[in-house]
Amino acid sequence: MLLKLLILAVIGVMIYRFFGGKIPILDKTSKPRTKRSKPKIEEETMVECAKCGTWVVVEEMTVVQGKYYCDECV
Ligand SMILES: [Zn+2]
Repeated sequence: MLLKLLILAVIGVMIYRFFGGKIPILDKTSKPRTKRSKPKIEEETMVECAKCGTWVVVEEMTVVQGKYYCDECV
């Protein structure tokens, strides 16, 4: 009896999913929708060194008088 109910429940969910329906409680396998409002470009922005021309990640650059310099050129 319990097995029947379980099978019916599974079939019910499968049918529901087949039609594109979504139940938040039952739909655990689906990945949470992340809104791509801002692309993650800012985190790894490459900047050219003002002196040697080497492209380095902004975080590792040193800004001197508005210009970016790599560690070797500072
Ligand atoms: Zn440099």
